[in-house]
Amino acid sequence: MIKKVLVANRGEIAVRVMRSCREMGLTTVAVYSDVDRTAMHVRYADEAFAIGPSPSAESYLRMDKIIDVAKKSGADAIHPGYGFLSENAAFAELCEQEGIAFIGPSPFAIKTMGDKITARKTMIKAGVPVVPGTTEPIKDTKTAIEVINEIGLPVMIKASAGGGGKGMRLVKTEKEIINAISAARSEAKAAFGDDAVYIEKYISSPHHIEFQVLGDKHGNVVHLFERECSIQRRHQKVVEETPSPILNHEVRMKMGADAVAAAKAVNYYGAGTIEFIVDDDLNYYFLEMNTRLQVEHPITERVVGVDLVKQQINIANGMELSFRQEDLKQHGHAIEVRIYAEDPDNNFMPSPGIIKHISEPLGLGVRHDGYVYEGYEIPIYYDPMISKLIVWSESRDEAIARLKRALYAYKITGVKTSIPYLHRILEVPDFVKGRYNTHFIEENKEYLQPKQNCVDQCMEVAAITAFIDYINKLEQLQPARPDKHLGNNWKDLGRKRSVLRY
Ligand code: ADP
Repeated sequence: MIKKVLVANRGEIAVRVMRSCREMGLTTVAVYSDVDRTAMHVRYADEAFAIGPSPSAESYLRMDKIIDVAKKSGADAIHPGYGFLSENAAFAELCEQEGIAFIGPSPFAIKTMGDKITARKTMIKAGVPVVPGTTEPIKDTKTAIEVINEIGLPVMIKASAGGGGKGMRLVKTEKEIINAISAARSEAKAAFGDDAVYIEKYISSPHHIEFQVLGDKHGNVVHLFERECSIQRRHQKVVEETPSPILNHEVRMKMGADAVAAAKAVNYYGAGTIEFIVDDDLNYYFLEMNTRLQVEHPITERVVGVDLVKQQINIANGMELSFRQEDLKQHGHAIEVRIYAEDPDNNFMPSPGIIKHISEPLGLGVRHDGYVYEGYEIPIYYDPMISKLIVWSESRDEAIARLKRALYAYKITGVKTSIPYLHRILEVPDFVKGRYNTHFIEENKEYLQPKQNCVDQCMEVAAITAFIDYINKLEQLQPARPDKHLGNNWKDLGRKRSVLRY
Protein backbone atom coordinates (compact mmCIF):
# COMPACT_ATOMS: atom_id res chain seq x y z
CA MET A 1 0.00 0.00 0.00
CA ILE A 2 1.17 3.52 -0.84
CA LYS A 3 2.55 5.36 2.19
CA LYS A 4 4.60 8.21 0.77
CA VAL A 5 3.67 10.22 -2.32
CA LEU A 6 6.03 12.38 -4.36
CA VAL A 7 4.07 15.08 -6.17
CA ALA A 8 5.88 15.83 -9.44
CA ASN A 9 4.28 19.22 -9.93
CA ARG A 10 3.98 22.73 -8.53
CA GLY A 11 1.36 25.42 -8.01
CA GLU A 12 -2.24 24.89 -7.02
CA ILE A 13 -2.44 21.29 -8.23
CA ALA A 14 0.55 20.16 -6.16
CA VAL A 15 -1.07 21.65 -3.04
CA ARG A 16 -4.46 20.17 -3.94
CA VAL A 17 -3.01 16.65 -4.36
CA MET A 18 -1.12 16.94 -1.07
CA ARG A 19 -4.32 17.92 0.74
CA SER A 20 -5.93 14.59 -0.14
CA CYS A 21 -2.73 12.73 0.73
CA ARG A 22 -2.74 14.36 4.15
CA GLU A 23 -6.37 13.38 4.73
CA MET A 24 -5.44 9.81 3.83
CA GLY A 25 -2.56 9.81 6.31
CA LEU A 26 0.11 9.67 3.58
CA THR A 27 3.47 11.46 3.78
CA THR A 28 4.10 13.96 0.99
CA VAL A 29 7.28 14.83 -0.87
CA ALA A 30 7.62 18.04 -2.91
CA VAL A 31 10.12 18.69 -5.68
CA TYR A 32 11.00 22.24 -6.63
CA SER A 33 12.98 24.31 -9.09
CA ASP A 34 15.27 27.15 -7.98
CA VAL A 35 12.62 29.83 -8.30
CA ASP A 36 10.08 27.71 -6.39
CA ARG A 37 12.20 27.37 -3.24
CA THR A 38 9.66 29.37 -1.24
CA ALA A 39 6.55 28.15 -3.09
CA MET A 40 3.45 26.99 -1.25
CA HIS A 41 3.75 23.34 -2.30
CA VAL A 42 7.25 23.23 -0.77
CA ARG A 43 5.94 24.68 2.47
CA TYR A 44 2.93 22.36 2.51
CA ALA A 45 4.80 19.08 1.92
CA ASP A 46 6.34 16.97 4.66
CA GLU A 47 9.62 16.87 2.76
CA ALA A 48 10.99 18.87 -0.17
CA PHE A 49 13.85 18.34 -2.61
CA ALA A 50 15.46 20.72 -5.10
CA ILE A 51 15.53 19.38 -8.65
CA GLY A 52 17.30 22.11 -10.62
CA PRO A 53 17.06 25.42 -12.44
CA SER A 54 13.80 27.28 -12.96
CA PRO A 55 12.97 26.40 -16.60
CA SER A 56 10.71 23.33 -16.47
CA ALA A 57 12.85 21.47 -19.03
CA GLU A 58 15.63 21.51 -16.42
CA SER A 59 13.49 20.64 -13.40
CA TYR A 60 9.82 19.56 -13.50
CA LEU A 61 10.33 17.72 -16.80
CA ARG A 62 13.51 15.92 -15.70
CA MET A 63 12.35 12.32 -15.21
CA ASP A 64 15.77 11.17 -13.98
CA LYS A 65 15.91 13.76 -11.20
CA ILE A 66 12.37 13.09 -10.07
CA ILE A 67 12.92 9.32 -9.92
CA ASP A 68 16.14 9.96 -8.04
CA VAL A 69 14.29 12.03 -5.41
CA ALA A 70 11.61 9.33 -5.13
CA LYS A 71 14.31 6.78 -4.34
CA LYS A 72 16.22 9.02 -1.95
CA SER A 73 13.11 9.99 -0.05
CA GLY A 74 11.63 6.52 -0.01
CA ALA A 75 8.47 7.63 -1.84
CA ASP A 76 6.57 4.60 -3.09
CA ALA A 77 4.33 6.51 -5.50
CA ILE A 78 4.41 9.56 -7.81
CA HIS A 79 1.41 11.76 -8.53
CA PRO A 80 2.10 13.79 -11.68
CA GLY A 81 -0.74 16.37 -11.35
CA TYR A 82 -1.64 17.84 -14.74
CA GLY A 83 0.71 19.22 -17.41
CA PHE A 84 4.46 18.47 -17.08
CA LEU A 85 4.96 14.66 -17.05
CA SER A 86 1.33 13.70 -16.45
CA GLU A 87 0.70 12.41 -19.97
CA ASN A 88 4.17 11.12 -20.66
CA ALA A 89 3.99 7.37 -21.29
CA ALA A 90 7.78 7.00 -20.98
CA PHE A 91 7.64 8.48 -17.48
CA ALA A 92 4.81 6.18 -16.41
CA GLU A 93 6.85 3.27 -17.76
CA LEU A 94 10.01 4.40 -15.97
CA CYS A 95 8.12 4.60 -12.66
CA GLU A 96 6.91 1.03 -13.19
CA GLN A 97 10.44 -0.18 -13.99
CA GLU A 98 11.78 1.48 -10.85
CA GLY A 99 9.10 -0.12 -8.69
CA ILE A 100 7.38 3.20 -7.95
CA ALA A 101 3.59 3.38 -8.39
CA PHE A 102 2.57 5.92 -11.03
CA ILE A 103 -0.72 7.44 -9.83
CA GLY A 104 -2.32 7.46 -13.24
CA PRO A 105 -3.24 5.15 -16.12
CA SER A 106 -1.11 2.53 -17.87
CA PRO A 107 1.61 3.65 -20.31
CA PHE A 108 -0.41 1.87 -23.03
CA ALA A 109 -3.52 4.00 -22.39
CA ILE A 110 -1.47 7.21 -22.30
CA LYS A 111 0.27 6.30 -25.56
CA THR A 112 -2.89 5.27 -27.41
CA MET A 113 -4.92 8.30 -26.35
CA GLY A 114 -1.98 10.71 -26.65
CA ASP A 115 -1.86 10.25 -30.39
CA LYS A 116 -5.06 11.68 -31.80
CA ILE A 117 -5.02 9.59 -34.98
CA THR A 118 -4.55 6.33 -33.02
CA ALA A 119 -7.24 7.47 -30.57
CA ARG A 120 -9.67 8.15 -33.45
CA LYS A 121 -9.08 4.69 -34.87
CA THR A 122 -9.53 3.09 -31.43
CA MET A 123 -12.82 4.97 -30.91
CA ILE A 124 -14.19 3.97 -34.31
CA LYS A 125 -13.47 0.35 -33.40
CA ALA A 126 -15.22 0.80 -30.05
CA GLY A 127 -18.31 2.27 -31.74
CA VAL A 128 -17.85 5.76 -30.24
CA PRO A 129 -18.77 8.54 -32.71
CA VAL A 130 -15.79 10.61 -33.92
CA VAL A 131 -15.76 13.84 -35.93
CA PRO A 132 -15.90 12.93 -39.65
CA GLY A 133 -12.39 13.14 -41.13
CA THR A 134 -9.21 11.20 -41.83
CA THR A 135 -7.83 8.29 -39.86
CA GLU A 136 -4.36 8.50 -41.39
CA PRO A 137 -1.85 11.38 -41.37
CA ILE A 138 -2.03 13.67 -44.42
CA LYS A 139 0.71 12.62 -46.86
CA ASP A 140 0.54 15.48 -49.36
CA THR A 141 -1.62 18.46 -50.29
CA LYS A 142 -3.16 16.65 -53.28
CA THR A 143 -4.68 13.95 -51.06
CA ALA A 144 -5.65 16.63 -48.52
CA ILE A 145 -7.63 18.52 -51.16
CA GLU A 146 -9.34 15.30 -52.26
CA VAL A 147 -10.38 14.54 -48.66
CA ILE A 148 -11.59 18.10 -48.09
CA ASN A 149 -13.67 18.00 -51.26
CA GLU A 150 -15.25 14.82 -49.95
CA ILE A 151 -16.14 16.04 -46.43
CA GLY A 152 -16.73 19.67 -47.44
CA LEU A 153 -15.39 22.95 -46.09
CA PRO A 154 -14.88 24.25 -43.45
CA VAL A 155 -12.40 21.78 -41.90
CA MET A 156 -9.86 21.73 -39.10
CA ILE A 157 -6.28 20.68 -39.71
CA LYS A 158 -5.10 19.15 -36.44
CA ALA A 159 -1.82 17.82 -35.11
CA SER A 160 -1.93 14.15 -34.17
CA ALA A 161 0.32 14.84 -31.18
CA GLY A 162 -1.65 18.04 -30.43
CA GLY A 163 -2.48 19.60 -27.10
CA GLY A 164 -3.18 23.05 -25.68
CA GLY A 165 -4.70 24.15 -28.97
CA LYS A 166 -1.32 23.93 -30.74
CA GLY A 167 -0.96 22.72 -34.33
CA MET A 168 -4.61 23.41 -35.13
CA ARG A 169 -5.84 25.47 -38.09
CA LEU A 170 -9.32 26.28 -39.36
CA VAL A 171 -9.71 26.19 -43.14
CA LYS A 172 -12.70 28.01 -44.59
CA THR A 173 -11.75 28.36 -48.26
CA GLU A 174 -9.83 26.18 -50.69
CA LYS A 175 -7.06 28.71 -51.13
CA GLU A 176 -6.21 28.52 -47.40
CA ILE A 177 -5.54 24.75 -47.48
CA ILE A 178 -1.85 24.69 -48.40
CA ASN A 179 -0.81 27.42 -45.94
CA ALA A 180 -2.94 25.93 -43.14
CA ILE A 181 -1.36 22.50 -43.53
CA SER A 182 2.17 23.83 -43.52
CA ALA A 183 1.47 26.16 -40.56
CA ALA A 184 -0.13 23.33 -38.55
CA ARG A 185 2.78 21.03 -39.45
CA SER A 186 5.52 23.43 -38.41
CA GLU A 187 3.74 24.42 -35.20
CA ALA A 188 3.28 20.72 -34.34
CA LYS A 189 6.91 19.93 -35.14
CA ALA A 190 8.15 22.77 -32.92
CA ALA A 191 5.78 21.96 -30.04
CA PHE A 192 5.75 18.15 -30.07
CA GLY A 193 8.59 17.06 -32.36
CA ASP A 194 6.02 15.34 -34.57
CA ASP A 195 4.55 16.98 -37.66
CA ALA A 196 1.79 14.45 -38.42
CA VAL A 197 -1.51 16.26 -39.07
CA TYR A 198 -5.01 15.06 -40.02
CA ILE A 199 -8.28 16.56 -41.18
CA GLU A 200 -11.53 16.88 -39.26
CA LYS A 201 -14.85 18.37 -40.32
CA TYR A 202 -15.30 21.73 -38.61
CA ILE A 203 -18.32 21.61 -36.33
CA SER A 204 -19.96 25.02 -36.40
CA SER A 205 -21.41 26.44 -33.14
CA PRO A 206 -19.66 23.69 -31.19
CA HIS A 207 -19.98 22.98 -27.50
CA HIS A 208 -17.08 21.42 -25.65
CA ILE A 209 -18.55 18.93 -23.20
CA GLU A 210 -16.36 16.42 -21.43
CA PHE A 211 -17.09 13.41 -19.23
CA GLN A 212 -15.12 12.44 -16.17
CA VAL A 213 -14.38 8.72 -15.94
CA LEU A 214 -12.85 6.53 -13.25
CA GLY A 215 -11.64 3.01 -13.88
CA ASP A 216 -10.03 0.49 -11.55
CA LYS A 217 -7.54 -2.29 -12.29
CA HIS A 218 -10.34 -4.89 -12.17
CA GLY A 219 -12.09 -3.69 -15.31
CA ASN A 220 -14.76 -1.52 -13.64
CA VAL A 221 -15.32 1.87 -15.30
CA VAL A 222 -17.87 4.54 -14.36
CA HIS A 223 -18.50 8.08 -15.54
CA LEU A 224 -19.06 11.00 -13.19
CA PHE A 225 -21.16 13.02 -15.63
CA GLU A 226 -20.15 16.03 -17.68
CA ARG A 227 -18.44 19.36 -17.51
CA GLU A 228 -19.44 22.13 -19.90
CA CYS A 229 -16.21 23.86 -20.97
CA SER A 230 -17.31 25.90 -23.99
CA ILE A 231 -16.19 29.28 -22.66
CA GLN A 232 -12.71 29.31 -24.12
CA ARG A 233 -10.20 31.91 -25.17
CA ARG A 234 -7.72 30.75 -27.80
CA HIS A 235 -8.88 27.16 -27.16
CA GLN A 236 -8.11 27.51 -23.45
CA LYS A 237 -10.94 27.06 -20.95
CA VAL A 238 -11.92 30.09 -18.88
CA VAL A 239 -15.18 29.06 -17.15
CA GLU A 240 -16.42 25.51 -16.57
CA GLU A 241 -19.72 24.36 -15.15
CA THR A 242 -21.65 21.22 -14.40
CA PRO A 243 -24.31 20.14 -15.27
CA SER A 244 -24.12 21.48 -18.82
CA PRO A 245 -26.99 23.91 -19.44
CA ILE A 246 -27.71 22.34 -22.85
CA LEU A 247 -27.77 18.59 -22.24
CA ASN A 248 -30.95 16.64 -21.62
CA HIS A 249 -31.16 13.42 -19.63
CA GLU A 250 -31.27 11.13 -22.65
CA VAL A 251 -28.20 12.59 -24.41
CA ARG A 252 -26.32 12.78 -21.08
CA MET A 253 -26.85 9.06 -20.49
CA LYS A 254 -25.80 8.17 -24.06
CA MET A 255 -22.67 10.30 -23.84
CA GLY A 256 -21.84 8.83 -20.43
CA ALA A 257 -22.17 5.30 -21.79
CA ASP A 258 -19.92 6.21 -24.75
CA ALA A 259 -17.36 7.76 -22.39
CA VAL A 260 -17.25 4.47 -20.47
CA ALA A 261 -16.91 2.54 -23.74
CA ALA A 262 -14.08 4.84 -24.83
CA ALA A 263 -12.20 4.23 -21.57
CA LYS A 264 -12.82 0.48 -21.70
CA ALA A 265 -11.38 0.37 -25.24
CA VAL A 266 -7.94 1.06 -23.74
CA ASN A 267 -8.45 -0.93 -20.51
CA TYR A 268 -8.36 2.35 -18.71
CA TYR A 269 -7.66 2.64 -15.01
CA GLY A 270 -7.31 5.87 -13.01
CA ALA A 271 -9.08 9.18 -13.55
CA GLY A 272 -9.54 10.37 -17.13
CA THR A 273 -11.62 12.69 -19.24
CA ILE A 274 -13.36 12.03 -22.52
CA GLU A 275 -13.81 15.27 -24.44
CA PHE A 276 -16.71 15.54 -26.86
CA ILE A 277 -17.62 18.21 -29.33
CA VAL A 278 -21.38 18.73 -29.50
CA ASP A 279 -23.40 20.58 -32.13
CA ASP A 280 -26.59 22.60 -31.63
CA ASP A 281 -28.74 19.51 -32.34
CA LEU A 282 -26.87 17.63 -29.61
CA ASN A 283 -25.04 15.34 -32.03
CA TYR A 284 -21.77 14.58 -30.28
CA TYR A 285 -18.36 13.35 -31.40
CA PHE A 286 -15.27 12.13 -29.51
CA LEU A 287 -12.56 14.78 -29.60
CA GLU A 288 -9.82 13.36 -27.40
CA MET A 289 -9.09 11.75 -24.06
CA ASN A 290 -7.03 13.41 -21.35
CA THR A 291 -5.35 10.67 -19.39
CA ARG A 292 -4.90 12.63 -16.17
CA LEU A 293 -6.64 14.83 -13.63
CA GLN A 294 -8.11 17.96 -15.27
CA VAL A 295 -7.75 21.53 -14.05
CA GLU A 296 -11.55 21.70 -13.78
CA HIS A 297 -11.98 18.46 -11.75
CA PRO A 298 -13.29 20.26 -8.61
CA ILE A 299 -16.72 21.00 -10.11
CA THR A 300 -17.26 17.27 -10.60
CA GLU A 301 -16.03 16.56 -7.07
CA ARG A 302 -18.58 19.00 -5.70
CA VAL A 303 -21.61 17.92 -7.73
CA VAL A 304 -20.97 14.18 -7.56
CA GLY A 305 -19.43 14.17 -4.07
CA VAL A 306 -16.26 12.22 -4.87
CA ASP A 307 -12.64 13.15 -4.06
CA LEU A 308 -10.97 12.33 -7.38
CA VAL A 309 -7.42 12.40 -6.03
CA LYS A 310 -8.34 9.96 -3.28
CA GLN A 311 -9.89 7.71 -5.93
CA GLN A 312 -6.72 7.93 -8.04
CA ILE A 313 -4.65 6.79 -5.06
CA ASN A 314 -7.04 3.97 -4.17
CA ILE A 315 -6.97 2.77 -7.78
CA ALA A 316 -3.15 2.88 -7.83
CA ASN A 317 -3.30 0.72 -4.69
CA GLY A 318 -5.23 -1.87 -6.70
CA MET A 319 -8.49 -1.28 -4.86
CA GLU A 320 -11.84 -1.81 -6.56
CA LEU A 321 -14.10 1.22 -7.08
CA SER A 322 -16.38 1.45 -4.05
CA PHE A 323 -19.40 2.58 -6.09
CA ARG A 324 -21.26 1.51 -9.20
CA GLN A 325 -22.69 3.72 -11.93
CA GLU A 326 -26.15 3.69 -10.40
CA ASP A 327 -24.77 5.01 -7.08
CA LEU A 328 -23.57 8.22 -8.73
CA LYS A 329 -25.86 11.25 -9.01
CA GLN A 330 -25.48 14.91 -9.88
CA HIS A 331 -26.53 17.18 -7.06
CA GLY A 332 -26.87 20.94 -7.54
CA HIS A 333 -24.74 23.11 -9.80
CA ALA A 334 -21.03 24.00 -9.69
CA ILE A 335 -19.03 26.60 -11.63
CA GLU A 336 -15.28 27.13 -11.76
CA VAL A 337 -13.40 30.19 -12.99
CA ARG A 338 -9.66 30.28 -13.57
CA ILE A 339 -7.81 33.26 -12.13
CA TYR A 340 -4.71 34.19 -14.13
CA ALA A 341 -1.95 36.67 -13.36
CA GLU A 342 -2.52 38.56 -16.57
CA ASP A 343 -3.91 41.87 -17.74
CA PRO A 344 -7.23 41.30 -19.53
CA ASP A 345 -7.28 44.92 -20.67
CA ASN A 346 -3.85 44.73 -22.25
CA ASN A 347 -4.20 41.77 -24.56
CA PHE A 348 -3.99 39.30 -21.65
CA MET A 349 -0.30 40.05 -21.13
CA PRO A 350 1.13 37.87 -18.35
CA SER A 351 1.59 39.89 -15.17
CA PRO A 352 4.23 38.20 -13.05
CA GLY A 353 5.32 39.94 -9.85
CA ILE A 354 4.99 40.05 -6.08
CA ILE A 355 1.58 39.54 -4.45
CA LYS A 356 1.17 42.53 -2.15
CA HIS A 357 -2.16 41.58 -0.74
CA ILE A 358 -4.54 38.69 -1.20
CA SER A 359 -7.88 38.14 0.47
CA GLU A 360 -9.63 35.02 -0.68
CA PRO A 361 -13.38 34.63 -0.77
CA LEU A 362 -14.96 32.41 1.85
CA GLY A 363 -18.44 31.37 2.83
CA LEU A 364 -21.04 28.76 2.04
CA GLY A 365 -20.48 26.85 -1.19
CA VAL A 366 -17.12 28.44 -2.02
CA ARG A 367 -13.89 26.53 -2.69
CA HIS A 368 -10.62 28.23 -3.51
CA ASP A 369 -7.76 26.14 -4.90
CA GLY A 370 -4.73 28.39 -4.99
CA TYR A 371 -1.10 28.57 -4.00
CA VAL A 372 -0.04 32.21 -3.77
CA TYR A 373 0.39 34.16 -0.54
CA GLU A 374 1.32 37.71 0.43
CA GLY A 375 4.92 38.44 -0.47
CA TYR A 376 5.09 35.53 -2.95
CA GLU A 377 6.54 36.36 -6.34
CA ILE A 378 4.75 34.75 -9.29
CA PRO A 379 7.54 33.41 -11.50
CA ILE A 380 7.74 34.03 -15.22
CA TYR A 381 8.64 30.44 -16.01
CA TYR A 382 5.30 28.67 -15.69
CA ASP A 383 1.64 28.91 -16.55
CA PRO A 384 0.27 32.16 -15.11
CA MET A 385 -2.80 30.53 -13.54
CA ILE A 386 -2.76 31.41 -9.85
CA SER A 387 -5.96 29.91 -8.58
CA LYS A 388 -9.36 28.44 -9.26
CA LEU A 389 -12.52 29.68 -7.66
CA ILE A 390 -15.25 27.05 -7.46
CA VAL A 391 -18.78 27.65 -6.24
CA TRP A 392 -21.69 25.32 -5.67
CA SER A 393 -25.37 25.91 -5.08
CA GLU A 394 -28.68 24.10 -5.52
CA SER A 395 -29.47 25.82 -8.83
CA ARG A 396 -27.50 27.42 -11.68
CA ASP A 397 -28.91 30.89 -10.96
CA GLU A 398 -27.91 30.65 -7.32
CA ALA A 399 -24.46 29.38 -8.27
CA ILE A 400 -23.97 32.41 -10.55
CA ALA A 401 -25.08 34.77 -7.77
CA ARG A 402 -22.69 33.03 -5.38
CA LEU A 403 -19.84 33.26 -7.87
CA LYS A 404 -20.44 37.00 -8.29
CA ARG A 405 -20.46 37.45 -4.52
CA ALA A 406 -17.22 35.46 -4.20
CA LEU A 407 -15.50 37.30 -7.06
CA TYR A 408 -16.38 40.67 -5.51
CA ALA A 409 -14.78 39.51 -2.28
CA TYR A 410 -11.62 38.28 -4.03
CA LYS A 411 -8.88 40.90 -3.80
CA ILE A 412 -5.37 40.51 -5.14
CA THR A 413 -2.98 43.44 -5.46
CA GLY A 414 0.57 43.60 -6.76
CA VAL A 415 -0.20 41.81 -10.02
CA LYS A 416 -2.99 42.24 -12.55
CA THR A 417 -5.50 39.41 -12.65
CA SER A 418 -8.32 38.18 -14.85
CA ILE A 419 -10.90 38.85 -12.09
CA PRO A 420 -12.39 41.99 -13.78
CA TYR A 421 -12.79 40.02 -17.02
CA LEU A 422 -14.57 37.18 -15.19
CA HIS A 423 -16.99 39.70 -13.67
CA ARG A 424 -17.86 40.80 -17.20
CA ILE A 425 -18.41 37.24 -18.44
CA LEU A 426 -20.93 36.63 -15.66
CA GLU A 427 -22.99 39.62 -16.83
CA VAL A 428 -23.28 38.54 -20.49
CA PRO A 429 -26.94 37.66 -21.22
CA ASP A 430 -25.97 34.50 -23.18
CA PHE A 431 -24.03 33.23 -20.18
CA VAL A 432 -26.84 34.05 -17.77
CA LYS A 433 -29.25 32.12 -20.01
CA GLY A 434 -26.82 29.23 -20.44
CA ARG A 435 -27.00 29.62 -24.21
CA TYR A 436 -23.42 29.68 -25.35
CA ASN A 437 -20.91 27.73 -27.44
CA THR A 438 -17.14 27.93 -28.03
CA HIS A 439 -17.63 31.22 -29.95
CA PHE A 440 -18.92 32.91 -26.77
CA ILE A 441 -15.92 35.17 -26.21
CA GLU A 442 -15.61 36.16 -29.87
CA GLU A 443 -19.36 36.84 -30.17
CA ASN A 444 -19.58 38.86 -26.96
CA LYS A 445 -16.50 41.02 -27.44
CA GLU A 446 -18.52 44.18 -26.85
CA TYR A 447 -19.79 43.01 -23.47
CA LEU A 448 -16.32 41.91 -22.48
CA GLN A 449 -14.73 45.31 -23.16
CA PRO A 450 -13.92 47.20 -19.96
CA LYS A 451 -16.00 50.24 -20.95
CA GLN A 452 -19.11 48.40 -22.03
CA ASN A 453 -19.55 46.73 -18.70
CA CYS A 454 -17.58 48.66 -16.14
CA VAL A 455 -17.99 46.47 -13.06
CA ASP A 456 -14.33 46.86 -12.16
CA GLN A 457 -14.18 50.57 -12.92
CA CYS A 458 -17.43 51.16 -11.05
CA MET A 459 -15.89 49.26 -8.14
CA GLU A 460 -12.92 51.64 -8.14
CA VAL A 461 -15.15 54.72 -8.32
CA ALA A 462 -17.30 53.30 -5.53
CA ALA A 463 -14.20 52.61 -3.43
CA ILE A 464 -12.95 56.20 -3.84
CA THR A 465 -16.41 57.61 -3.03
CA ALA A 466 -16.64 55.44 0.07
CA PHE A 467 -13.18 56.53 1.18
CA ILE A 468 -14.13 60.23 0.84
CA ASP A 469 -17.32 59.48 2.79
CA TYR A 470 -15.27 57.79 5.45
CA ILE A 471 -12.92 60.81 5.80
CA ASN A 472 -15.94 63.17 5.98
CA LYS A 473 -17.45 61.03 8.70
CA LEU A 474 -14.25 61.05 10.72
CA GLU A 475 -14.07 64.82 10.42
CA GLN A 476 -17.61 65.15 11.72
CA LEU A 477 -16.65 63.05 14.69
CA GLN A 478 -15.25 65.53 17.12
CA PRO A 479 -17.69 64.51 19.76
CA ALA A 480 -18.54 65.71 23.19
CA ARG A 481 -19.53 62.09 23.98
CA PRO A 482 -17.06 60.09 21.91
CA ASP A 483 -18.24 56.64 22.92
CA LYS A 484 -21.74 57.08 21.59
CA HIS A 485 -20.57 58.62 18.35
CA LEU A 486 -17.96 56.01 17.80
CA GLY A 487 -20.58 53.33 18.23
CA ASN A 488 -22.81 54.87 15.57
CA ASN A 489 -19.89 55.47 13.33
CA TRP A 490 -18.87 51.85 13.48
CA LYS A 491 -22.27 50.76 12.27
CA ASP A 492 -22.37 53.33 9.48
CA LEU A 493 -18.98 52.40 8.25
CA GLY A 494 -19.95 48.78 8.25
CA ARG A 495 -22.92 49.60 6.04
CA LYS A 496 -20.82 51.62 3.62
CA ARG A 497 -18.42 48.78 3.27
CA SER A 498 -21.17 46.30 2.59
CA VAL A 499 -22.45 48.53 -0.24
CA LEU A 500 -19.06 48.00 -1.79
CA ARG A 501 -19.48 44.28 -1.40
CA TYR A 502 -16.03 43.71 -0.02
P1 ADP B 1 -6.13 20.31 -27.94
O1 ADP B 1 -5.78 18.90 -27.59
O2 ADP B 1 -5.02 21.02 -28.65
O3 ADP B 1 -6.67 21.09 -26.79
P2 ADP B 1 -8.77 19.64 -28.95
O4 ADP B 1 -8.93 18.60 -29.99
O5 ADP B 1 -9.10 19.26 -27.55
O6 ADP B 1 -7.28 20.22 -29.03
O7 ADP B 1 -9.60 20.93 -29.35
C1 ADP B 1 -9.54 22.13 -28.59
C2 ADP B 1 -10.72 23.01 -28.93
O8 ADP B 1 -10.71 23.35 -30.34
C3 ADP B 1 -12.07 22.37 -28.71
O9 ADP B 1 -12.53 22.53 -27.39
C4 ADP B 1 -12.95 23.12 -29.71
O10 ADP B 1 -13.30 24.38 -29.17
C5 ADP B 1 -12.01 23.37 -30.89
N1 ADP B 1 -12.14 22.29 -31.91
C6 ADP B 1 -11.37 21.20 -32.02
N2 ADP B 1 -11.77 20.42 -33.05
C7 ADP B 1 -12.83 21.03 -33.61
C8 ADP B 1 -13.70 20.74 -34.73
N3 ADP B 1 -13.54 19.64 -35.46
N4 ADP B 1 -14.70 21.62 -35.01
C9 ADP B 1 -14.85 22.74 -34.28
N5 ADP B 1 -14.06 23.08 -33.23
C10 ADP B 1 -13.06 22.25 -32.90
